[in-house]
Order: sequence, then C-alpha cells, then structure tokens
Amino acid sequence: IVRVVGVTKSFTMGKVEVRALKGVDLEIFAGEYISIMGPSGSGKSTLFNMIGGLDKPSDGKVFIDEVDISQLDAYELAWLRNRKIGYIFQTFNLIPVMSALENVTLPMTFAGMNADDAQDKGIELLRLVGLGERFQHKPLELSGGQQQRVAVARSLANDPAIILADEPTGNLDLTTGEEIIDLLRMLSQERGVTIISATHDYKMLNVSDRVVWVRDGVVDRIERREELKITVGGIGGKERVRNGE
Ligand code: ATP
Ligand code: MG
Repeated sequence: IVRVVGVTKSFTMGKVEVRALKGVDLEIFAGEYISIMGPSGSGKSTLFNMIGGLDKPSDGKVFIDEVDISQLDAYELAWLRNRKIGYIFQTFNLIPVMSALENVTLPMTFAGMNADDAQDKGIELLRLVGLGERFQHKPLELSGGQQQRVAVARSLANDPAIILADEPTGNLDLTTGEEIIDLLRMLSQERGVTIISATHDYKMLNVSDRVVWVRDGVVDRIERREELKITVGGIGGKERVRNGE
C-alpha cells in the first residue's frame, strides 16, 4: 500500500546542510501495523512527512497504491490527504475554537458530505473511540487522552486506508498511552486499517506486525514481532492473561 524508494531528504539551514534521510527503501502492505522506532533525530518524523505527502523528498519516490505522490497536483494531493490517509500527531493538532464533534466532522464536510450525515457519523466515531458524550467540549476542556481520542476519531472521518501517527502517545501518561495504543490496535484488527506509527513507546512493539528501526537517516533493520529481542509488559501481556482465562 506504501512503497518508499531511495528517499533522501536534506534541510539547508543557512550554511549547514542536515541530511535527515540518506536513502530509505521500505514497503508496507495493506493491513499491517508498522512502528518506526529509533533515537531522537534519526529521521522518523521526516520519513512520516514523506509518506504522508506533507513534505517532498529531495530525491527518491513515495508510492501510495502504486501512485507516485510527487507527481500529484495540489488538488490530487489534497484529495489523498483528505480521503486516503488519517493523521495523528503528538500534540493532537485539534482546532481549539471548534468542539470535539466539529473537529471530527470538518474533514467530512470538506469531502462533500452533508452536515446531517457528517454529524451522525461524527457522533458514531466519537463513541467508537470512547469519548462518551463529550461531543460539545472544546479541546481545552478535555484531558490529553480525550483530545487524542478526538484526533483518532478525526483521522477516521473519511474511512482512510492508512493512519499515520507521529508519537501518538508522546504527550500522554503511561496508562492513557496504553489506551490509545489499544484503540489503534482495535482499528487495525477490526477495521483492517494500515497503521504506521513513528514512536518512542516500547509498548507499541506488542501490537506491531513489523518494527522499522531507523538510525541516522537510514533503515537499520526491520523485525517482525516474533523476531523482536525486546519484550515489554503491558498491553500484549494483558492480552495473554485474558486469553488464558
Ligand atoms: P524525534 O524522536 O526527536 O521526534 P525524529 O527521529 O523524528 O526525532 P526528525 O524530526 O525526522 O527526527 O529529524 C531528523 C533530522 O532532521 C534532525 O537532525 C532534525 O534537526 C532535522 N530536521 C527535521 N526537520 C527539519 C526542518 N524542517 N528543518 C531543518 N532540519 C530539520
Ligand atoms: Mg519525531
């Protein structure tokens, strides 16, 4: 569903050139749950921005469903970002003057859905992510975990095939972070959404099909969950207990 081919990205800051990505090749299949892990500054967010069409590679190509996204015009790119991909960010990035529900319905009305249908679907999605009845709350009237739930609901607005999440648990405490990971796992398992998450959160390893380890602008190695050398308590552990009951 995503193919990254020989992608490099450099940023020039005055006289200093930072090579954030130095040639990344990566193929991600529909329905996979992928975690991109690596030290701070290794290029995870840069790679995230390339895959999501939020920034352009210096060299190389990104294909989504075999479409080279660098060839899209502004209108087609906006369509892709509205329909095909849902985005979740560390800082939630909700619109502060809009209610939870309005944040979720905005991408739907942008896609041409009528207001009544958008409202119904928005409420359904906010219930799905467990926001309860707090539809009319504005982001600042919600906790961090609740805001991220709204952001997850918003990412689902137009039934995207792919959800891209950059440090989705980065601003949340451990328990709240686990709840968000659990939510992403539910979307992956029950809706078949492809999840691609850049993260520092080792709890994410338990739910990932593959982990892409990035180091200094290159893919260091890719491990399947069964091959991981690191084991983490928490979500996966809890499930094993549940299955044993
Ligand atoms: P973190 O775990 O801290 O989020 P990261 O792996 O996401 O780190 P990136 O944000 O991708 O790392 O940054 C990779 C490198 O590219 C860093 O050296 C960073 O300073 C540089 N960089 C990223 N974005 C820009 C930008 N817009 N302008 C200049 N340099 C940038
Ligand atoms: Mg980052």
